[in-house]
Amino acid sequence: MSTLTINDERFLSDLYHLRTFGADGIGVIRPSLSTPDVAARHWLRTRMEEAGLEAQIDRVGTVFGRSPRPGPALLLGSHTDTQPKAGWLDGAFGVMAALEVARTLREQPETAGLAVDVASWIDEEGSFLGFLGSRSFCGLQDLSLIDTATGRDGRLLVAALAEAGLAGRPRVQMEDGRYAGYLEAHIEQGPFLEADGNRIGVVTRIVGIRTMLIRFTGIQNHAGTTPMPMRKDAGRALVEFVNRIHAEFPKIAGERTVWTAGRIELDPGAASVIPGAAELTLQFRDPESEMMNRLQERVFELAAEADGDIGVEAIMEPGTVEPVAMDEDLLEQVAAAAESHAPNNWVRMPSGAGHDAQVLALRMPSAMLFVPSIGGISHDFAEDTADEDLVLGCQVLATAVESILKAAPAAPPSRPA
Ligand SMILES: [Zn+2]
Repeated sequence: MSTLTINDERFLSDLYHLRTFGADGIGVIRPSLSTPDVAARHWLRTRMEEAGLEAQIDRVGTVFGRSPRPGPALLLGSHTDTQPKAGWLDGAFGVMAALEVARTLREQPETAGLAVDVASWIDEEGSFLGFLGSRSFCGLQDLSLIDTATGRDGRLLVAALAEAGLAGRPRVQMEDGRYAGYLEAHIEQGPFLEADGNRIGVVTRIVGIRTMLIRFTGIQNHAGTTPMPMRKDAGRALVEFVNRIHAEFPKIAGERTVWTAGRIELDPGAASVIPGAAELTLQFRDPESEMMNRLQERVFELAAEADGDIGVEAIMEPGTVEPVAMDEDLLEQVAAAAESHAPNNWVRMPSGAGHDAQVLALRMPSAMLFVPSIGGISHDFAEDTADEDLVLGCQVLATAVESILKAAPAAPPSRPA
């Protein structure tokens, strides 16, 4: 195994500097194309230039640093935009680790010829269009949506891009034939690594997401004058249905299946009116498509069983995200790097959260690694990871990159858009 060693202090100092853009106490408020986000992008572009990368901020806001070395290249990245009230590491860790790996390789004669490109994909968190940067790079973004998308802050995406001085710039696009693959380091955002005393997670799959809408139709009536036996209460049917889901799903669910009744609406939703109609939004996630099919089938069955006095109809919502497998060869290289730096202290695991890697995986072999999240907390100001684990994650990434590039065939595989 290699002796390539990252510069811990430089890596942490840059990561902590990124935290100052949009800092709010220990947290960060840096949604896509907000003033601190744009400032962070300009700073990052400069840091990429200093690292010898040909760096630019593209038409949609992605910061991209291209190695002047010929391929086969590895593409490393994550995102620097955040949720409206976020932690300091979600995305930021992976971008700064990527930059540190690119710098480290360039400084050591043995690896200076290897090509690593670095990206901070814009809007992973979906302030305007989720995964905009990675989808645009991969040729998977519906460009007409860019013209009409409106942000959580009410601004048009095109107006926000123009305000940031990015209108009319070129869009960074994937170069066919250049890449041996994509690697993303990220915080786990969940409790499993810490609970089991592991320091690195090698991601096997990224979960899929399905959302179903269940509609209940009863009869609206007076809450005081209608006797209980005569009621057709859509709200009561909805609550009973939610209880059925919570009773039935555990009988078929896998180890990582999660489900959420995240939105309930009663019509008309007044204290003195028996609800005539009700709507439930049920979302479930799992690393396996087959499991998702089984859960979906069960919802349809339960809806059919409940359909009677009260009408019950289950509908699939658009926007289904299928689970994505990480590339076997790449993840084995990441696993070997984890074993060399954290022997017996790492684990293969699925990702319960979405990541840019699930977009990149549609175009090139992709893999991810996780570092532990303290208390499993993320998307919150309190999100944190021990410095030693951040450094270890960056080091494992560096070792994996070196071994992958040294073994990469001259004409890397790529998949059509
Ligand atoms: Zn993230």
